[in-house]
Amino acid sequence: AHLDRIAEVDDRLGAFLHVGGTEALAAARRADDAIAAGEAPSALAGVPIALKDVFTTTDAPTTCGSKILEGWVSPYDATLTRRLRDAGIPILGKTNMDEFAMGSSTENSAYQVTRNPWDLDRIPGGSGGGSAAALASYQAPLAIGTDTGGSIRQPAAVTATVGVKPTYGTVSRYGLVACASSLDQGGPCGRTVLDTALLHEVIAGHDPRDSTSIDAPVPDVVAAAREGSNKDLTGVRIGVVKQLQGEGYQAGVLESFQQACATLTSLGATIVEVDCPSFSYALGAYYLILPSEVSSNLARFDAMRYGLRVGDDGTHSADEVMALTREAGFGPEVKRRIMIGTYALSSGYYDAYYGQAQKVRTLIARDFAKAYQDVDVLISPTTPTTAFKLGEKVDDPLAMYLFDLCTLPVNLAGTAAMSVPSGTANDGGAVLPVGLQIMAPALADDRLYKVGAAYE
Ligand code: GLN
Repeated sequence: AHLDRIAEVDDRLGAFLHVGGTEALAAARRADDAIAAGEAPSALAGVPIALKDVFTTTDAPTTCGSKILEGWVSPYDATLTRRLRDAGIPILGKTNMDEFAMGSSTENSAYQVTRNPWDLDRIPGGSGGGSAAALASYQAPLAIGTDTGGSIRQPAAVTATVGVKPTYGTVSRYGLVACASSLDQGGPCGRTVLDTALLHEVIAGHDPRDSTSIDAPVPDVVAAAREGSNKDLTGVRIGVVKQLQGEGYQAGVLESFQQACATLTSLGATIVEVDCPSFSYALGAYYLILPSEVSSNLARFDAMRYGLRVGDDGTHSADEVMALTREAGFGPEVKRRIMIGTYALSSGYYDAYYGQAQKVRTLIARDFAKAYQDVDVLISPTTPTTAFKLGEKVDDPLAMYLFDLCTLPVNLAGTAAMSVPSGTANDGGAVLPVGLQIMAPALADDRLYKVGAAYE
């Protein structure tokens, strides 16, 4: 049914880069047989999924939305891919994304534009716009994204779906093509909090193949989601981050946020205001740390090891082939970040830029730690505005970066957060989804699910 739905609507939406019909049907049949034999491998056996095209798969290409990886098929499955397969979850296909996960609108994909199912002239968010659009248009009941600075939560907010950035180190990065290694985290996307929790349970857990994987039990997110659905938040303390509201936020987004606070209070929670002064510097720090890591990580695309190779005709040196390939294979945003990162890391500038940004990162983590001494979770709008029009910000990188203002601090601190649908707001006559961001300390992801399920 989902493959039929994809065939019916995806030429208008552009959520998928690759659809794996035969493999998905075979996996569904295997899951059916296991269920019939009373040996269902997981609660989600047979429920299909859309996978962001940044996780490696042996049976489909992995492009990361980049020309430089066009046609490349990985010799191994990512740990996350393997966990999906082992849980009996058929992979419907690979979803569109901003090139190497750099972007906020999915317009940086080298292949196609993805449209927001709520308004086809608007962006579906990014970098995981393909996964969010697939969910919102009922092409898939579950999806996987990655969140380096907001790429799961922000697309969830603008498509009225649920997206979670788990605690850094709890979902394996083995086989997740790196953008910024200290920030990247795979995570679950769904249409309800409980669906998302069931998927979270499948993908999280220690992996010896990822050196940053945490060897600790995964909190019981499914139990927390079920508990939250009783709609009782008595005794829960919630902090509103002072720095994540006010000037620059759309009026309808702020109204929805006020209503969310009222709803949470009516469910029994206590709401207090919390000061996180260093959050004001998160954007500056993020856009030094991320490009620095990108400039290093993307050095591996050297025309020798993967995908595209340009100018290999016997008249060019190896260095020239590398330069020609990177010139043709990378898009403008990727090049911009490689340049910024190379500059920020260069001798004489390292302390002034990268070093300072790392200090800010520590201050942000301290702001969170201090806040969580007094509250269980923090909340804010997920995005300052509703979905903007396609093309509106493509020529203004800074305006594009500002769309992730509310989501970046969590990545810098390595903690957990969720975006849950929070009604709609009006923008120039269009009625568009708004998201509520719920944030929790590291390894306390279960709190997101309790509060999220109570609120939804
Ligand atoms: N939009 C942010 C960026 O461009 C976040 C991307 C992400 O989370 N992958 O870096």
